[in-house]
Amino acid sequence: MRNVIVKYLFYGSIIFGIWAVLLFSCCHHRNINFSDSEFLHGMSRYGFNVVVSRRLGKRRDVPDSRNTMCLKKQYPKYLPTASVIICFRNEEFNALFRVISSVMDLTPHYILEEIILVDDKSDFDDLKEKLDYHLEVFRGHIKFIRTKKREGLIRAKMIGAALASGDVLVFLDSHCEVNRGWIKPLLFAISKDPTMVVFPVVDNIDHLTLEYIPIPVMRGAFDWTLQFKWDIVFSYEQEGPEGPTTPIRSPSMPGGIFAIHKHYFNEIGQYDNGMYHWGGENLELSLRIWMCGGQLFIIPCSRVGHISRMYFTDHFLMVKSMIYNNLRLVHVWLDEYKEVYFAQNPGVKSVRYGNVSERVELRKRLGCKSFQWYLENVFPELETAVDNA
Ligand code: UDP
Ligand code: MN
Repeated sequence: MRNVIVKYLFYGSIIFGIWAVLLFSCCHHRNINFSDSEFLHGMSRYGFNVVVSRRLGKRRDVPDSRNTMCLKKQYPKYLPTASVIICFRNEEFNALFRVISSVMDLTPHYILEEIILVDDKSDFDDLKEKLDYHLEVFRGHIKFIRTKKREGLIRAKMIGAALASGDVLVFLDSHCEVNRGWIKPLLFAISKDPTMVVFPVVDNIDHLTLEYIPIPVMRGAFDWTLQFKWDIVFSYEQEGPEGPTTPIRSPSMPGGIFAIHKHYFNEIGQYDNGMYHWGGENLELSLRIWMCGGQLFIIPCSRVGHISRMYFTDHFLMVKSMIYNNLRLVHVWLDEYKEVYFAQNPGVKSVRYGNVSERVELRKRLGCKSFQWYLENVFPELETAVDNA
């Protein structure tokens, strides 16, 4: 384990060096005052430009990034209701508020059952009484819970889900902004098939300028280090009558932003509550959905922006928990392919990962298919990567 950590710390410091150089040149280029202490302090605390975030404030309009064909689509008036769950820890006040106000402004109120906020034991003062005070304007629409101890993202999400009274759980990160018409396409897909789990196109909100930048439609994938990555969509996927509005099969999902029917979430075993703070849960859920009879789709007509943070606070803890969580999923879901994973990541083979017997039991109970089946039917490109690994 120690070797692995030393390796990650080593790479971490190189990345930090590159980051500092890039940051300097970007800031210089974009007329950002690099020596401004508010900027620097905010950058290390939140991973994005807090000066701009404060200037934008609690609400703003973002450009509609949908394909024009999406605007012509009609959805039934009655759709399942949604509980939007936002977990946060030490989030920047205005960024957090913009998620909430964008959801309130751009979700039809007869569909929005509630917004559930889970504060995962934040330390910052402005997330205490000040937040309570400002949330008063949404009274009646928000359920707000603060955890007694830091639970980590994975358990925090389950705490939020347990409070939900809507039909569908919609998870959002605490530094997102939803776009126009974002929710109906997600709910419509689930209303046709409750075992369908869906996520929007995740547009980029630049961490320095906070500019909302639309991105092309990509599907979720991963490599043999189990790192999530975006991957190209094959053109035949969008050749049907629905063209660029067609939902696209996705081998995995980024994890922070997705919608799932509440009963289906419970039926397939929520999350692995033995997982620590962050990481791996998105891939574990993606494999579980596909291998145990569900489906995972990206919905091109739904768009949500997300700030991809320059993340350094808790870096060591995050890497450690990601390794631990990944190992749990490897031992439950990868079958004989775990050897391929260990061949790629030899340093983690002897790392402890706790007891996974409950999750192995769950897999049996759900009668899930093999990882070989997943490779053959959902993500053959990963199998090919074995030969080149
Ligand atoms: N988060 C949390 N508890 C933790 C770590 C993260 O509640 O221990 C929240 C965080 O505030 C954010 C979400 O989980 O709203 C996802 O975390 P992050 O944005 O760091 O993940 P990324 O987008 O980089 O995958
Ligand atoms: Mn995030």
